[in-house]
Amino acid sequence: MSFPTKYKYIIVGAGIHGLSTAYHLAVALKNKGTAGSPQDILVIDKGAIGAGASGIACGVIRNNYYQPAMQELMAHSVRLWEEDAEGYGYYPVGYMQISPESMHADVAEIFARQQNIGYESAFVEGEKECLKYMKEKIFHDWQAKNITSILHEKNGGYAHNTRSLYRLADKAEAEGVRILTGVKVTGFKTSKNAVTAVETSRGDIECDWVIIGAGPWAKSFWDMLGLPNKIDIKGRDGKIHKGVKMWTYWCLEEGTLGVPTELGMNNAGKMPPVIHVDSDAPLYSSEDGSLITDKLWGIYYKPDFHFKGIQGGSMPYIVDREEVAVDPYGIDSPDFIVGPEFAHMWTSALAHCQKRYEDKYHLFRNEPSGGIGAFTPDNFPIFDTMKQNCYMILDSNHGYKMIGVGQLVAKEILGEEQALLKLFRFDRYARGELHPVSSSPFPWS
Ligand SMILES: Cc1cc2nc3c(=O)[nH]c(=O)nc-3n(C[C@H](O)[C@H](O)[C@H](O)COP(=O)(O)OP(=O)(O)OC[C@H]3O[C@@H](n4cnc5c(N)ncnc54)[C@H](O)[C@@H]3O)c2cc1C
Repeated sequence: MSFPTKYKYIIVGAGIHGLSTAYHLAVALKNKGTAGSPQDILVIDKGAIGAGASGIACGVIRNNYYQPAMQELMAHSVRLWEEDAEGYGYYPVGYMQISPESMHADVAEIFARQQNIGYESAFVEGEKECLKYMKEKIFHDWQAKNITSILHEKNGGYAHNTRSLYRLADKAEAEGVRILTGVKVTGFKTSKNAVTAVETSRGDIECDWVIIGAGPWAKSFWDMLGLPNKIDIKGRDGKIHKGVKMWTYWCLEEGTLGVPTELGMNNAGKMPPVIHVDSDAPLYSSEDGSLITDKLWGIYYKPDFHFKGIQGGSMPYIVDREEVAVDPYGIDSPDFIVGPEFAHMWTSALAHCQKRYEDKYHLFRNEPSGGIGAFTPDNFPIFDTMKQNCYMILDSNHGYKMIGVGQLVAKEILGEEQALLKLFRFDRYARGELHPVSSSPFPWS
């Protein structure tokens, strides 16, 4: 097939958002037919399907968010995961947020809202009750200290990242979408505040709409479109905070404990829920007994046959540099892969939680893992049309789980504003309509 010179809809990025948008837009066009057909959709990626964050995400899918708008959006996405669970490699094992007293009230609010929106979960309160719940229902060797609440989400779980991406790509292509990999977008031609063509490493392609789902590369597209790198934000205090940096990078630290995956099963010998523990109990090394931290810490983990062991991560850290090189990305980046400090902390935290991991730190798999994400000023997504015809899906690294966003974006492209996306517009910063902030040590809870 020759290189195209014109497409009605160009989607940049073959990650979870680009591919989900492509598929859902194709289905919508097939059913509606007035705004084009699935053959009018082109997906472009400079690398390959899953070359970005979606291809390295550990795949956790949850509803546990302190922000009501995020909770409703996640509930919508979980429904989409469930519609094609097998195809996407989705394991609906549930998810547990296990917390210390300082987070109790926040998590109680999350639970109350889950009750209101019909998202099934259980809430356990009190130190003794939490220990009993964990030991009797989940892991007999549970031993984490200072835990006073547990939110047990019965839906959600995790999915196999590349399998879900290829499934979406296959479904999109079956509808008639074209996916071009190895083509880099280098700029945009604009006229009267509209994008008229996408400039690529292989030539310009004219378009009516461009949709960008570029994950960690969000800033480079922001720059290509001439959008501001510093913005004014009306804070919760009503004051205007001038010149706030638009993009910040955080490095996500993840890894795998190379034990037989079966070691991570629950009391019934089955796959347990994804476990997320935050704790203010002092964390001691499982290797030499030294104090690692006496501040709030957090980890998440799951047995995962795809990763061949117990896979998970800990709190991310801010990449404190003026210029951040996003490429080479993920495990190819020497700067942003995990080191021995992460391995020490994470394996010790596993041992703090479950006795079975006490003598296993030496089995941490010493292989490249982790990657960076681009975060917005309030760490929450922006879903908005930034030029007349340029829709940006800027997910602030929340996004593998948000498979449903593409479906909602497709509807907005076709003119139907979506209530679930309305609270994620760029002008919320100027209007002071910010999402509430939780007391979690993670920027995405
Ligand atoms: C280590 C790690 C673990 C994570 N774990 C989870 C998790 O468990 N659950 C969860 O919900 N989220 C998780 N996330 C976040 C999640 O992965 C991202 O929010 C999400 O994948 C972003 O999807 P995307 O489609 O926007 O971008 P990406 O998947 O990054 O895709 C962007 C694509 O754009 C392409 N591209 C970039 N620049 C250009 C260009 N100039 N021209 C053409 N193509 C270009 C890239 O090649 C890439 O394929 C994790 C992130 C990381 C880094």
